[in-house]
Formats: sequence, structure tokens, C-alpha cells
Amino acid sequence: MQAVVYRGVNDLRVETVPVPRIGAGELLVRVAVCGVCPTDIKKIHHGTVAPPRIFGHETAGTIVRVGARVRGFRVGDRVALHHHVPCLDCHACRHRAFAQCPQYKRTGITAGFEPAGGGYAEFVRVMSFCLPGVVKIPAKNSFVEGSLLEPVNTVLKGVHRLAVLPGDFVLVAGQGPIGLLFTKLLALRGLRVIATDLIEPRLQLARRFGAARALRPDAPDLPAQIHRLTRGRGLDAAVIAVPVDAAVQQALALVRGAGQILLFAHTKRGAVAPVDFSSVCVDEKDLLGSYSSDVTLQPAVARLVFSRKLDVRPLVTHRFPLAETTAAVALAARPQPDSLKVLVDQSGVRE
Ligand SMILES: [Zn+2]
Ligand SMILES: [Zn+2]
Repeated sequence: MQAVVYRGVNDLRVETVPVPRIGAGELLVRVAVCGVCPTDIKKIHHGTVAPPRIFGHETAGTIVRVGARVRGFRVGDRVALHHHVPCLDCHACRHRAFAQCPQYKRTGITAGFEPAGGGYAEFVRVMSFCLPGVVKIPAKNSFVEGSLLEPVNTVLKGVHRLAVLPGDFVLVAGQGPIGLLFTKLLALRGLRVIATDLIEPRLQLARRFGAARALRPDAPDLPAQIHRLTRGRGLDAAVIAVPVDAAVQQALALVRGAGQILLFAHTKRGAVAPVDFSSVCVDEKDLLGSYSSDVTLQPAVARLVFSRKLDVRPLVTHRFPLAETTAAVALAARPQPDSLKVLVDQSGVRE
């Protein structure tokens, strides 16, 4: 089969590799669509993991082989995959810190080499411990919608970190695909979202996704507007969906005492920034983080996406064939005014 193999920093090559063999408790899935995710881009650009690997973990496709011991799935089922599944039994899992679970950290979907998702290949093997995260895609929904379950899951997990009440004001800094999903999910919960981004078309989409206000973060009157909107109280929470330190500083200044700031995009290790710790100690502002997904949210995520209460289709702006995965990654790494979610699409059907 064809696969896009990561061979070193900024080095992705289309190669012919064997179709993965599966065990009795496993599935083989023909990949239809795989989203390009910023965490893969970071690994490709910075070489934070050893090659060779086949990336791509926002995967939807069709089951083509079912292990003899697998129950509940059949050849022909259209499915969305989930590559990180916790054991639900270890010390971390008992604290619901699923992303810290040793099993969770193992990637359970592969197209060969060290497992890394495998979605940039024609077929992937789904290991048995990842079966609890596999979701069937209803007939009326597309592979594209299936491929977005994983990013939506990570966003819903982040939303659950916030102690907010309906009517509260939440800043969402950055209106890329992830920021827009935060905007929509928070708006669905009755929160009033102030969305910021430097790209005008993204602000327009933020309004469509339910933002009460959509503003440039460098607007000189932004603090005054938030002061007025919140009747002088300040923001109840802020979500930082852009890897920009100035956005964190701005949020720290605009959030009320005992408000929360959720870091969602600061994934690069070693980046150090000054923080006035009295804003945490005296003002009781919480700095929180959220990373990756929570498989226990998967049924709720599937309901939101497949019912189109959260319609993810407007997020997808570009599709590339498998052989052009390098171009897909390059575009996702340097978004253009008209680009949001970028997909590698092997389905051959424009859905
Ligand atoms: Zn992802
Ligand atoms: Zn565990």
C-alpha cells in the first residue's frame, strides 16, 4: 500500500509499505479521510520523535477485515477511530487523568513502524485496546464528520475543565479550527463568547459559530469593551487556543478574580514566560491545561457531531490526496486567510 512515511525533520516521503497484519482482537480499516493536526505538524517540524513513523490520527474509514475475536463490528462498517484509549484502572485513570495513563500514551493505531496514528496511509491496524473508542458513522453522515470526532473530543474535554455558569463571559483566543470548536461548544452551553483572531474571515465564522463578539486581539478598545460587556466584573474564563504568550498575559489581565485560564495550544516544551504569581495567589486566578482526548466523552461527542447540533462541515476548507500530504501539512502549518481544517482525503468522493 501507499503511505506517507516520516523519515526525519520536515521529511515526509510517499513509500510503498506492507498492508498491516491484524491479530484476532483487531481491525483493519481502509482510510477514507484523515485530518491534519497541529500536534503532528509539531513532531514533523521539530523532530520531537524518532523516525520512521506514519502519522495521522484524525481518521475515518471503512472496516475491511475483522479479527476472529472481535464482536460488534463487521466488514463494511464506516467508522471513526480514536488512537488513545486509557485503561480506566491505573492510578492516573482513578484520578480521571487519562492522558497520563501509560496505556493511553501508547498509540493503538498504526500503518507500520512505531505506532503513530497511521492515517496518512491506505490502511490502518486498530489494536484491541483502541476498540472502545471506535464509533460507527451513521449513514447520513460523512467520513469528514467522522474524522472530526477526535478534535471535537479534545475540545469538549477542555470545556469540562471550566467551572462556568450559563451567561458567563468566556474569551476564546484564536479562531482556528480548535478555537472555533470551543466557541461553538461554549455557545451551546449558554456562555457568552468573546472570540479573538487576527484573520477577518475567521472572525466572521466565529460569529456564525455563536460568538457574542468577535474582535481583533490588538483592538485598542478590547479591555474597555470587555469591561463594559461584563459590567466591570471581567471575564469569567479564557481559553487560549493559539500558541502565543501575549494571549495568556492579556487573558490574565482580563479575567476576574477566581476566574480560569485554560491553555490549549502551548504544547512546545521549554518555552518559559514570566507570570505574576500574585495573580494566582492573591487574585485566585487558575491557570489550567488540557491535552488530548477523553474516550469516556466519545458517545457525547458522536451525538453532538452526527446530530449536527455541532456542524463541523464549515470548518473543512482544503482536501489533498494522500500523495500530496506534504502540501497538506505545509498549509495547515501556515494557515491562509481562507484556510481552516485541512484533510488528507482518499475517499474519492466529494461529500
Ligand atoms: Zn489531533
Ligand atoms: Zn490507566
